[in-house]
Amino acid sequence: MTDTTFLPFCQASLNKDEINEVRECLESGWLTMGRKVIQFEQDFAKYVGVKYALSVNSCTAALHLALLAHGIGPGDEVLVPSFTFVATANVIIHVGAKPVFVDINRQSLNIDPSAIEKKITKKTKAIMAVHYAGMPADLKAITQIAKKHKLIVIEDAAHAVGTMYRGKQIGTHGNTTCYSFYATKTMTTGEGGMLTTNSKKVADFVARNRLHGISKDAWKRYSKEGTWKYDVVSPGYKCNMTDVQAAMGLHQLRKLENFIARRTEIVHRYTTAFKDNPAVEVLTTPDYVRHSYHLYPILLHGVDRDQFIIDMTKMDIGVSVHFIPIHTFSYYKKYFPTPKGQLKNTQDVFKRLVSLPLYPKMTNKEVDRVIKAVTTLTK
Ligand SMILES: *Cc1c(COP(=O)(O)O)cnc(C)c1O
Repeated sequence: MTDTTFLPFCQASLNKDEINEVRECLESGWLTMGRKVIQFEQDFAKYVGVKYALSVNSCTAALHLALLAHGIGPGDEVLVPSFTFVATANVIIHVGAKPVFVDINRQSLNIDPSAIEKKITKKTKAIMAVHYAGMPADLKAITQIAKKHKLIVIEDAAHAVGTMYRGKQIGTHGNTTCYSFYATKTMTTGEGGMLTTNSKKVADFVARNRLHGISKDAWKRYSKEGTWKYDVVSPGYKCNMTDVQAAMGLHQLRKLENFIARRTEIVHRYTTAFKDNPAVEVLTTPDYVRHSYHLYPILLHGVDRDQFIIDMTKMDIGVSVHFIPIHTFSYYKKYFPTPKGQLKNTQDVFKRLVSLPLYPKMTNKEVDRVIKAVTTLTK
């Protein structure tokens, strides 16, 4: 049906900037956490406008350490949307706490503040707010509820580097915030993550526990400033970032604003094309938001989603689904069952949902190819 090559669902934008920096790193002989990691953390903290930025090897590790840093553990309940990547809930189980799934708002597809309060019990300790697709969760309402019930808020900003909520960057709203630099994310280090906070206590905990729980600056121990002596103050984890990853991150961060600008252009092109198509529901962006457009999800009406995905693939266009609700996975059904009839919006959205390709490298011609395919399949 087409004479074109396969258009992948996502592709990272890396060029000679990253390649040269990685080469320099390899040639220097210092591969693990060192000067480039420190520089990347400083640049990231400055970009977000937050006191501390601590790099780790994934957003999952950042979320895990965030829960531990806030003392969440056995006997505690943590409120989390089912409509997110499974990492957000898995880490709750890793610390021995119980994930309690909360429905999403039908417009933003983020955790619904009005559904949160109904799920709060004496055991509830924290809320995980996911900024889905780069659209910020309703932090104002969530913060009010958290204050009232003395809950910790942890932000899963895996999609939301560069997102602004009410004029301020995500990461500056007073909570511990976790970012992902996984290969498909808005900026990448291959694998990697960052945790930001204004709390010295949280920052110290994370700095220590990402590296075996050994005393400060242990990473220096093979450099001239370092010493062979160190103490272990807790049985920490091993999830620090390496200089090879940070070499990429330094340049990805410098390009982030351009990435978001190009993503925004593509989104406008899509949204304009689908405006009058009743079969394609697109998400809207409120005025008080600077969306980073990590994903472009659409909701189908009167068109079978699974068949649509098969047909798009046949037309050589990669699509995906973000996300399969966590409460429907067999492990979660068995050990953390959600009563039937709850999570109505999550269920309804999931069965209509498809994410279209969206990345800075896409040309307008490629975007138009996607538009044409979607239009043909939804006639
Ligand atoms: C990608 C993703 C994560 C996990 O990120 P990693 O860096 O791969 O650990 C967590 N939450 C959400 C919403 C994600 O999309």
